[in-house]
Amino acid sequence: MRYAIISDIHSNLEALQAVLKTIQKEGTDKIVCLGDIVGYGPNPNECIELVQQQCDIIITGNHDFACIKDTELYYFNQYAARAIEWTVTVLSKENLDYLVSLPFVDRIENYVLVHSSPFEPQSWDYILSKDDAVFNFSQFDKYDKICFIGHSHHPIIYIEKSENNKLSYSYKTVANLQLEENERYIINVGSVGQPRDGNPDSAFGIIDTSTQTYQLKRVRYEVRKTHQKMISAGLPSFLAERLLIGK
Ligand code: ZN
Repeated sequence: MRYAIISDIHSNLEALQAVLKTIQKEGTDKIVCLGDIVGYGPNPNECIELVQQQCDIIITGNHDFACIKDTELYYFNQYAARAIEWTVTVLSKENLDYLVSLPFVDRIENYVLVHSSPFEPQSWDYILSKDDAVFNFSQFDKYDKICFIGHSHHPIIYIEKSENNKLSYSYKTVANLQLEENERYIINVGSVGQPRDGNPDSAFGIIDTSTQTYQLKRVRYEVRKTHQKMISAGLPSFLAERLLIGK
């Protein structure tokens, strides 16, 4: 089986369409979405509807959750909060109800799927360092091979290696990874709609269970079109500008 794993779309329709087109060409069996379908960008309804049609497994992210629970806005910076307030005003009743239905955690094969971290997914903690990863490796079943995450918008692979009954930890930012028998992984697939690793191209991952390989893909999309739509919608210009530089 080959699974495409996408995350952090953030209402960016041009990016989502470009990524789905690439996934179709790749011919994967299923598509998983790790949440943050909305927030920041100009097309929340269109993105929810497309994700619903195209993805097989979908979990919630902190921006999706903030649309249905306004106390969550307390944790957002001013730009993110303004974008959520705008999003709630344009979302259809059906799409808001759909966001309510999304789970915090799911799984496929021996992989855990969560937006932020396996430890208390509803707390939306970030995994930003090796130390964060070391702690989180103890927070999902030791027989689970991979925990897939999004949330930081930075693609990265954390590795737990078991050798002679000793565990060691490292990380990699490679685009191609061969899974090893004696390793477990926390893999951040990056962001479709608001990359922040200095590369404005959309990011997503593909896991192949027969070859035991993981690939990070990058896809160019019409970023200027999204930028223009955000300015026209009156969304904070800071959020539009950052798309152009992927920061
Ligand atoms: Zn996000």
